[in-house]
Amino acid sequence: MNTDKIFQSQHYLFVFKVEADEEQAGRFINEVETRLYGISELLGYSDKIIETRPVYIIDKTDDIHFLHGNGSRQCIHLYVNQLDEINGNINLAIHEETHYILSNLCPEISTFLNEGIAEYVCWKYTGRRMPDAFMSNMKYIREISEEMVLSRDNWMKEYQARGIWIYGVASLFIKTMLSARHTVREILHEVYSDGNISVISETLEACRMREKVRV
Ligand SMILES: [Zn+2]
Repeated sequence: MNTDKIFQSQHYLFVFKVEADEEQAGRFINEVETRLYGISELLGYSDKIIETRPVYIIDKTDDIHFLHGNGSRQCIHLYVNQLDEINGNINLAIHEETHYILSNLCPEISTFLNEGIAEYVCWKYTGRRMPDAFMSNMKYIREISEEMVLSRDNWMKEYQARGIWIYGVASLFIKTMLSARHTVREILHEVYSDGNISVISETLEACRMREKVRV
């Protein structure tokens, strides 16, 4: 029997494939709606309205120990054991919601920038401290080229598989970029509208320099 619950909110169509009563679902939906503004503002896009109404699916994970998700132009998909779990793993939701916003406002975005911004935003949004492992993995910045930063291939998966916190490296790269610019929106405008990709090599250089000093 299909027990999916479907709700429509102002900006999303929700599908709950995990158990949720009206009250739990309502609370979750309100939080997602509030975050849409919060994340957009953090990115510098508070005046932009996304016209599509994405499907937001809260699904059951196959592996009880592995919560994951993905976020694209029209869909946000979280895989968990139960709805409550998302509160304890709020970064997962924020990360995927950020992907959804970025894919709409900058469809040409590269994998590294997309992941780096999504990861940067979840720590910034919650005000929590980034794990030390992000910094200790910054040594891998030496292997990353301008071409990799701008690629739309999913080369980062290989690094993750090797146990390297490449998403953390990407988020620190974004943090470094933001120290010279005000918002993510300005970064994306510079790279994708003005075509000024020298900011990428300058940031790589700044990260490498700092890494040298730290070692
Ligand atoms: Zn991601």
